[in-house]
Amino acid sequence: ENSDQLKVFNQQEAKKSLPVRKNNSHKGSFGKLALLAGSPGMTGAPILTAKAALKGGLGLVYLLTAAEIAEMTAAQLPELVSVALPSQAGLIKETAAAKILKFTEKVDLIAAGPGLGQDKGVKTLIENILKESSLDLILDADALNVISDLELLKNYKGKLTLTPHPGEMAALTGLSIKEINNNRIDIARKFAQKYQLNLVLKGAATITAAPDGRAYINLSGSNGLATAGSGDVLTGLIAALMAQESDNFRAAALAVYIHGRAGEFAAQANSDYAMIASDIIANLKKVYQELQ
Ligand code: AMP
Ligand code: MG
Repeated sequence: ENSDQLKVFNQQEAKKSLPVRKNNSHKGSFGKLALLAGSPGMTGAPILTAKAALKGGLGLVYLLTAAEIAEMTAAQLPELVSVALPSQAGLIKETAAAKILKFTEKVDLIAAGPGLGQDKGVKTLIENILKESSLDLILDADALNVISDLELLKNYKGKLTLTPHPGEMAALTGLSIKEINNNRIDIARKFAQKYQLNLVLKGAATITAAPDGRAYINLSGSNGLATAGSGDVLTGLIAALMAQESDNFRAAALAVYIHGRAGEFAAQANSDYAMIASDIIANLKKVYQELQ
């Protein structure tokens, strides 16, 4: 495999990469996810991520969220296990870090960010996870927005995956959104190699770049994916595929492809105008049926 080549992640790649599910299995076989997400006023984002993870084939999701919203989020998704974090007025306390790190000893991977808010406590939590954990870690949305020290990314002991949209990538790198969009492939690749992580640079023609220089461009999906919660769905799917496939880069690229393809089915059923993020989740089954 020539690592300089930018390959299209097409249906053939997707079929080849689809994890094989053993019949002699239990829910632990398909991964346990700790999802750190949500805040008052943003209680839908964690549900979209959790639901996409479960519909993506993951075994079990624990939603770690502020005590004030733990029960009402759990009520939206019966399959969810909700874990209340110490908080005050809906904001997670900085002291929750120890509880989170202890809790994550029983899971296989962590995803953080959707709807989390950018409070000081959130920044402390994300920094603590980056310093102390060594699990597979996916950072999205507000978990990216609170990062100010890029060395923390470079020094992370586990495998790290970031999923910025161009705005979040601009905040991370200090470049403008225009500069990023004019040079998406190169910027994604260099960042992934420099910080030794998987980078999913979102937007039309999403780039997935690996720490070793491999990269894929995705062509599935359409403008219907540009809708509230769409990225939260992708984060859940990435977690699901990572839990089932050992190569995190391939898992991320496959998740991006599946997200786009489910979006195509959602657009066929609803039109690009009328589709919403939940429609992406509702159409995952068609993508899996097609790839199987
Ligand atoms: P977010 O901005 O975090 O909600 O993520 C939006 C998701 O939708 C990402 O997976 C994007 O790659 C995808 N997306 C947004 N706009 C488009 C577009 N015009 N064509 C294809 N995919 C898109
Ligand atoms: Mg987002």
